[in-house]
Amino acid sequence: MAKQYAVIGLGRFGTSVARTLYKLGQEVLAIDTSEDRLRYLADEVTHTLLADSTDANVLKNIGIKNFDVVVVAIGENVQANIMTVLLLKELGVPYVVAKALNKMQGRVLEKVGADRVVYPERDMGKRVAHNLVSSNLIDYIELTQEFRISEILAKKEMFGKSLKSINFRSKYNVNVVLIKRASGEVLFSPGADDIIEVGDVLVLAGDRNSLDRLEQLWE
Ligand code: ATP
Repeated sequence: MAKQYAVIGLGRFGTSVARTLYKLGQEVLAIDTSEDRLRYLADEVTHTLLADSTDANVLKNIGIKNFDVVVVAIGENVQANIMTVLLLKELGVPYVVAKALNKMQGRVLEKVGADRVVYPERDMGKRVAHNLVSSNLIDYIELTQEFRISEILAKKEMFGKSLKSINFRSKYNVNVVLIKRASGEVLFSPGADDIIEVGDVLVLAGDRNSLDRLEQLWE
């Protein structure tokens, strides 16, 4: 069932979150103080609302506590960002996601009750850097401080070989959790005898150091 989302602050990040949620079939209310920004997005969300999110009455009147998730993506106006998160939690919104520009702001947002703090600039910077250092790294997800899942393009030397003979687990200390074939076929939890083919994408799980080491070997 579709959830009710509100996205406050329609800069590039907020706009992208709102648009994507809507495309994923969710109900999305977009809120901003700028009429232009709302107009720009009007056809790509469920509703728009011209309002200042630091006004508690506005939030109360629209029944903000009935939304499942509210994303606060106000950037430059740090004070408005923090105040909005505080109000949303005070009004009983179950899950508030807040965008932080830096660690300090992130800590404040956590203190005022944000359930999740995201750092889009920092994370994208990291992603691009990782991708530059290891050109076969397609993407990665940090599961915890220590563990990660990385998507890597199979290396030429591996084509035609089995997972067993490459020895991912004992040699590199990582697990192959999935193989995505160029044909679109997906091998979930592949076995030791599965063979790597040209164009395979390997989804690997392991600790950060092991994956880093392996990604560098790839070059
Ligand atoms: P990005 O990097 O994602 O583009 P940004 O960090 O530059 O975003 P801003 O443009 O500073 O973010 O702010 C995002 C939006 O938040 C703007 O469209 C602005 O109008 C809106 N905004 C700022 N203050 C409020 C507020 N109190 N209530 C609602 N919207 C607000």
